[in-house]
Amino acid sequence: MPNELKTYLKLRPTFHIRTFGCQMNVHDSERLAGVLEGEGYSFVTSQESADLVVINTCSVRDKADQKFFSDLGRLKKVKALRPEMKIAVAGCIAQQQGREIQSRFPHVDVILGPQNIATLPELLAKTSSCVVATGENQDYHLRKVPAIRAGGHRAWVPVMYGCDNFCSYCIVPYTRGREQSRPVKDVIDEVLSLADQGYSEITLLGQNVNSYGKGLSDGMDFPALLEQIHLLEGIKRIRFVTSHPKDLSERLMETFRDLPKLCNHMHLPVQAGSDRVLERMNRGYTVSEYLDKIERLRKLVPDMAFTTDIIAGFPGEEESDFEETVKVVRTVEYDGIFAFKYSKRPHTKARFFNDQVSEVEKGRRLNIILSIQDEISKLKNKVLVGTVQEIIVEGEGSAPKNGGSTTHQMGRTRTNKIVHFESENNLAGKLVQVLIAEGLQHSLKGRILKD
Ligand code: SAM
Ligand code: SF4
Repeated sequence: MPNELKTYLKLRPTFHIRTFGCQMNVHDSERLAGVLEGEGYSFVTSQESADLVVINTCSVRDKADQKFFSDLGRLKKVKALRPEMKIAVAGCIAQQQGREIQSRFPHVDVILGPQNIATLPELLAKTSSCVVATGENQDYHLRKVPAIRAGGHRAWVPVMYGCDNFCSYCIVPYTRGREQSRPVKDVIDEVLSLADQGYSEITLLGQNVNSYGKGLSDGMDFPALLEQIHLLEGIKRIRFVTSHPKDLSERLMETFRDLPKLCNHMHLPVQAGSDRVLERMNRGYTVSEYLDKIERLRKLVPDMAFTTDIIAGFPGEEESDFEETVKVVRTVEYDGIFAFKYSKRPHTKARFFNDQVSEVEKGRRLNIILSIQDEISKLKNKVLVGTVQEIIVEGEGSAPKNGGSTTHQMGRTRTNKIVHFESENNLAGKLVQVLIAEGLQHSLKGRILKD
């Protein structure tokens, strides 16, 4: 590298981002990185050596809260040695506890909520001791915020922000604000530009993508958006998360049958298998309505894969309610689940319910659900042995073993299952056919048919 360039690079301020939480938050970090690189910052892998450390927080469950506060405590010591280092706290905890963080952690320089990502450079330029930007930004969904994506062939594209559903346990509507759909043109332009850059798989993001279009003047809805994206050249696969069961329409279900690029996997959070609990959660559907939709989708697309979210030990959940949740898990035979112990969140209704379940009992129920699902996942993966799966390769894994000439490659099926195989070539980004030879707990192993 030429010396001038080295000198130039040395002059560039550096940043590091640590992200807690869900895909939406990971994507927000990609946007924060895009904004910072646009201002001349360059990314470094070490927090300790960075000029700016951004911690992008999540407050959906209390565990993430705790990890973040210990991180912040550790950074206090680093900043004591390097006072010129700047610390920014972004994300949902920043939104919700901005003033408290400011008074408890005076070493923090900037606190910004999810709707204020694009303003980070302006906030850093302010000279006051700590700047807090947690105001609502009504136009956030209209802004075109750059993103630095983590390479590969897959990219996330948000289609909406916020949520209007107010499930009684959930903090999201209070931290991410009201639901706002991005204009169709902005979404299409972004997907087109990603296709130009070589991305072939797009995952559309939103807290409830099924209600996309609410508030837009052009009458667009989510199935219509999917149809438009499906027409774009270069895009080979389309996925989306998350779908709320109450807004899963017949037309959206039919798009899985009608649009070949739409992958046959749906993440459809059930949360609980008892109507009484679902009602107290304010979910807006019954168990039989939920199961009818699963059945209908399976009729439309027989090899549809399903994953879900489940909350163990929601307030008032009796043993009999819990057994109904177990029944749903066994009935649907999910391909995977994300299960969590219920945790009390600020602002939410359920925190005031006076029939909270003990921590021990929540843990017991969580473990039961997870072990039942482990068995189901293992069996479902074994059933795939002998089938041929279409994989988009995500890249090389480990180096050749024992001096061999092949390298370990990893990719995903259309149903989002991870597949490992060996190849002499690095096939990153390529669409290949793999014969499945082994079904493991959380992944598959196979042999590539054409290299
Ligand atoms: N919008 C999505 C939906 O409607 O299912 C989910 C978004 S939320 C960020 C992700 C998951 O976190 C939820 O599906 C739920 O299972 C879990 N979750 C949310 N609040 C929780 C709480 N207070 N305790 C435990 N899990 C919670
Ligand atoms: Fe939270 Fe419910 Fe909105 Fe999902 S739909 S983000 S669980 S309030």
